[in-house]
Amino acid sequence: MSARNILVINCGSSSIKFALVNEAQTTFPLQGLAERLGSPEAVLHWQFGDTKESLSLPGTSHQSVLSKILPLAQEAAGGHLDGIGHRVVHGGEHFTASHLVDADVLAGIRANAHLAPLHNPAHLVGIEAAMELFPSLPQVSVFDTAFHQSMPPHAYRYAVPEFLYTEHGVRRYGFHGTSHRYVSKRAAEMVGVPVENSSWLSAHLGNGCSTCAIVNGESRDTSMGLTPLEGLAMGTRSGDVDPNLHSHLARTLGWSIEQIDRTLNHDSGLKGLSGLSNDMRTLYEAHMAGHPGATLAFEVFCYRLAKSLAGMACALPKLDGLIFTGGIGENSAAVRERTLEHMKLFGFQLDAEANARCTRGVGGEIQAAGSPRILVVPTNEERQIALDTLALLDA
Ligand code: ADP
Repeated sequence: MSARNILVINCGSSSIKFALVNEAQTTFPLQGLAERLGSPEAVLHWQFGDTKESLSLPGTSHQSVLSKILPLAQEAAGGHLDGIGHRVVHGGEHFTASHLVDADVLAGIRANAHLAPLHNPAHLVGIEAAMELFPSLPQVSVFDTAFHQSMPPHAYRYAVPEFLYTEHGVRRYGFHGTSHRYVSKRAAEMVGVPVENSSWLSAHLGNGCSTCAIVNGESRDTSMGLTPLEGLAMGTRSGDVDPNLHSHLARTLGWSIEQIDRTLNHDSGLKGLSGLSNDMRTLYEAHMAGHPGATLAFEVFCYRLAKSLAGMACALPKLDGLIFTGGIGENSAAVRERTLEHMKLFGFQLDAEANARCTRGVGGEIQAAGSPRILVVPTNEERQIALDTLALLDA
């Protein structure tokens, strides 16, 4: 059988990210992004091999841009596209694993839309359009939350009245599950321990950031909660704040719920603290040049990450290693170093040279002799979605 091809689609409210994954190739034969959909500036960018192209599509809808993407994928796959894998943010308690899309799955995604009002409806548009355009291709949905459904109640329940959980689904769900799952399996392979008898701390640090405790291939706790705002300080998200901050801002400043939401999700985190940027590269350069806001943002980011990882350790029976992944985790030796300086009791010691070497897709172990393992593992959510799709096709 020749190597199979899966088109991976991440359909957002105004954008569609896509990649063609071939099971035998490490790079994507085709990848791209359609953005500002529905606006006069809508545009489709794609890279096919070494060739980059863009197409302006003013006012185009999700459906019509998908009708452009699918033939591109067919061409890149040499006419042999085997299936489509869709990233879905919120599976609530309905989904503990990836699923072949059918009417029940669509209903489940719809039923959880109140938990991810910006994301799930957009995913549905993408899935339904792809099903219409390619009715004979199997479609699979892969949920960010599914991996964390193995958390025990003491990790996923909030200390609030029970009916808020039983009647309204107020609990911790966690996100980035596809990434935490992928990197913990990769880490086990890299160091030669069986994943079903392994324990990891994982830090996914991109624009959104989360930590996770993973035991025997299952999530036991994670830092994000009901929404992806809980936990670490992120690019533009505040992470944990005193829950009374909401009523405080409403009372003292007269802010509306929308204004509070917007501030905590879009104007906080690294951006809010630094007053400069949400981008760790820019901030680190400014920090080195003496910008006080950038220094504060860098310090808060690393300290809160260390505190979260130390807390996650409560869920582990042993530690096989600490994993760094995501744009910041994979590239910033400085963030890794500063974070570990706050975790003295764990005995982590970096090998400075190995730490500096791990950047731009280079992964590996970066601890000094005698230290618990520290790994940089490039994440690949698209590949994990394709692997799940292939596994369901095989089943
Ligand atoms: P997303 O969550 O949108 O997928 P990424 O995983 O690409 O985002 O991560 C984006 C973050 O990674 C940004 O803060 C960016 O500055 C940071 N990053 C990328 N390269 C580097 C680098 N060399 N040093 C420090 N931070 C980096």
